[in-house]
Formats: sequence, structure tokens, C-alpha cells
Amino acid sequence: MTQFAFFKGQIVPIEDAKISIMTHAFNYGTGCFEGIRAYWNENEKQLFIFQLIEHYERFLRSSRILLMNLPFTAERLSEITVELVRKEGYREDTYIRPLAFKSDEIIGVRLHNLHDEVGIFATPFGRYLESEEGARVGVSSWRRIDDNSVPARAKITGAYINSALAKTEAALNGFDEAIVLTQDGHVSEGSAENLFIVRDRVLITPPVTENILEGITRKVIIELARKELGLEVVERSIDRTELYVAEEAFFCGTGVQVAAVAQIDHRAIGTGQIGPIVKALRDLYFQVVRGQVPKYRAWCTPVYAV
Ligand code: PMP
Repeated sequence: MTQFAFFKGQIVPIEDAKISIMTHAFNYGTGCFEGIRAYWNENEKQLFIFQLIEHYERFLRSSRILLMNLPFTAERLSEITVELVRKEGYREDTYIRPLAFKSDEIIGVRLHNLHDEVGIFATPFGRYLESEEGARVGVSSWRRIDDNSVPARAKITGAYINSALAKTEAALNGFDEAIVLTQDGHVSEGSAENLFIVRDRVLITPPVTENILEGITRKVIIELARKELGLEVVERSIDRTELYVAEEAFFCGTGVQVAAVAQIDHRAIGTGQIGPIVKALRDLYFQVVRGQVPKYRAWCTPVYAV
């Protein structure tokens, strides 16, 4: 159970971390956020927060796009987060949600001349997709938001209506997840996760100019694939029908972790079962995030004193 939150500059009981119905960000979606995972390592009796600083660096980049000037560094936000999670005392996998939002209680759509507030809470969390070993996916009829309308590289609260439309359409059509195309019809990403396909043993993923969120897991996967599995990774545009002929495909993201795609638009990907490259990446990813690979231990921030 969540007991605390960081709110208005201090850690308070969760009941006291409340906003008004008049709050600007609640009315207009003028906030940005992060999703961070912490992994419990049973052997070491330690909780490791994965890529903590990187998430806060992206948080601050998102905030700048929203013309916020937050009085925190990524390092300070990381310290506050460790303190908050330690106070909760979690001994299980946990999700951390930092938010920065326009907190004024006034009418008027804009970004300037408003006050910004930061809040953080953390809550136990397991799987995001039930079928991480083989998701059934549909290409959405909704298109991805565009950089010149709602910037996708900022993790903006209001922008997630785009993700919600795609996710719900997919679910109502009997799929586990959606793949969303850009305005010009190239593959962008999932509803809340980045996408990779495998063709001729090469990992291919859309570049950051295809209106993706610049995923932290995506970057981790690119590095692990190149350095540990010796795979070639290419960032380039992907056509819709390349999805249908891929040998393997997977989603990655903090929430979804690394999830194999079994089918896209009713066409089996490869054998329709998790393939060897996705399996290898997935296994390695789960070792890395739990602090079990010494080389990548620096990506994991321990919560408890050793
Ligand atoms: N795309 C979108 C739209 C997302 O919401 C997320 C989850 N934050 C991702 C991609 C994956 O990003 P990350 O690996 O940084 O969690």
C-alpha cells in the first residue's frame, strides 16, 4: 500500500498529496511525468531503481519543453526518490511516478506565467502486459501525435490521450496492444512502449524523428544488443508491411519491460512463438535490471543501506 508522496517540497502522508479540481494541469493536461521501475533482488535483499538519473534527465527535458523551470537537478530528484521509496519500505517490484505540473487554480490555456509543482509517489507493480511472452497486436487506426502538434519526445500528461485511444481500440478489438503509425504512415511505436523488429538477424527500430518517446529501455536494449549479443542495430523508418514479414518483434519500455510480439494484424511473427533473439534480450534485460550483471550494476541504484 502506498503511504507517502513527495508533494510541495516534502514527503507527506499520501492522503495529504491532493490537488484541487481547478488545477491547471488537471483541466488542460499541462504536466509531464516519468515512469520508473525498481526491482527487488531477493538474494541481496535489496531494491534497485533502474536508470534513475536517466529518467530524471528526461523528466527535466520534458519540463523544459513545457516552459517549466523546476528548482531541482536530476541528482536531487534521485535522492528524494530513494528517500521516499526507502520510507515506504517496499520489498517487491515497484513503480515510481514523478510528475511536474502547472499547479495554478485558474482558467486559461497557456504555458507561461504559471507555477510548477513536482510530486512523486511509488507503488508496488508487477506485469504491465499479461502476455509478455507473446502479445497479439493490431495496427491502430489512430495516428501518433506529431512533433509539431504535441511533441512526442516530451512525456506530457495530456499527450497520453493518444496512447489511451490506441490502447482501448486495441483491447476492444481483442488485441493485447497497439502499434501506432506516424502521420505519414511509418511505424512509430506501441501505445506506451517502443518497438523493435528483427530482419535477417538485424535489430531495426524507428529513429527518434518518427515521433517516438525517446525510450530509456530502447537505449538500454540497443546497447545490450550491440555489446553483449553482438547484434547489428539499425535506426530507420519501418513500413507497415515490414511488420508482417519480420522474423521477430518486441516491445520495450519501463512498464512493458521486454515483451515478445506473437502476432500483428492476425499474421504470426516468425513461428508465432517468442524467437531466439527476443528471448536472449529478455533474459539478459531481467538480469541487468535486478543488479545481477556486474558490468551494468551502475544502472541500478540501491534503495537500502548495505
Ligand atoms: N513510448 C511511450 C509513449 C511511452 O509512454 C513509454 C513509457 N515511458 C515508452 C515509449 C518507453 O519508454 P521508457 O523505456 O523510457 O520507459
